[in-house]
Amino acid sequence: MKSFVFISLLITTVYNAAAQDSFFDPIDTVETPTGTMLIYGDRTWAYLGEENFEGIMNARIHEMVCGDTTYSYKSKWTNEDVITCTTNDVSLLKDTLWMCVLDSLHNNYAIPFDGVMTSKYGYRRGRRHNGVDIDLETGDTIYAAFDGKIRYAKYHENGFGNLIVIRHYNGLETYYAHCSKLMVAPNQDVKAGDPIGLGGNTGHSSGSHLHFEVRFYDNPINPELIFDFKKKAVKDNLLVHSGVFHPNSGSSRSSSSSSSSSSSSSVNKNAKTHRVRSGENLWIIARKYGTTVNSLCKLNSLTETSVIHIGQVIRLK
Ligand SMILES: [Zn+2]
Repeated sequence: MKSFVFISLLITTVYNAAAQDSFFDPIDTVETPTGTMLIYGDRTWAYLGEENFEGIMNARIHEMVCGDTTYSYKSKWTNEDVITCTTNDVSLLKDTLWMCVLDSLHNNYAIPFDGVMTSKYGYRRGRRHNGVDIDLETGDTIYAAFDGKIRYAKYHENGFGNLIVIRHYNGLETYYAHCSKLMVAPNQDVKAGDPIGLGGNTGHSSGSHLHFEVRFYDNPINPELIFDFKKKAVKDNLLVHSGVFHPNSGSSRSSSSSSSSSSSSSVNKNAKTHRVRSGENLWIIARKYGTTVNSLCKLNSLTETSVIHIGQVIRLK
């Protein structure tokens, strides 16, 4: 079964070789127990022989996360499992990490597919939606969001359908689900904007669309915290802290309010203080009241990395 999937992947890749540019032209082949593996240009499969490769691409971030004395964060390199570790409870993350989404070595990005967003991140009808849905036609090309290495590219039995997972140098992973075709193979290097698959309707999906997720140590983040899909822009930096992983983080808060595209409709400009509730942090509070973390820090003699407690009163003015 495994070899079938693998071979069909190769066939898919070869199929696309004819229609695409030199990116799809293999420069060498390697015989493996499951068949012939194609080697592509300078996108060397650096981890081919390193079965025990662990961690994320960004060594600095990995070190900071693993340095958290209260918890041991794990992330292994596997082509077989979508989630690498089910026990990375990021709500235990005490620190705020300043993540450079783009850096001087890997400074490109792409919007995976330029289409209408039909579903946002967060709770919908009582169920958690871990990504955003972007409308497309079966056969539309999907692009890698950042530079990285393909970690997973095969059919996922439990809902994602044909799924591609890319691990990026910034420390994030991105998921591209329900594809009709996979154009990449595990362990292959990709650049931002490289075509990686064709959109489709495979897995648990009613109608062709791209389900796109952004994850940090296996935990989903609202993609809209990083991508501005309308402007086709990306934020240079992301402050990663436990609140970022809250299902409502960065989304237009409640389902009862109408389809506002930002949180501006729920911003309370008159409030003078705020009592901290579970799951909140300075970043969430700043958003809620239309102010900045910097301003809150000054008013309350805090720093961006200060721990705030449930029940603590935060001055807003
Ligand atoms: Zn979805």
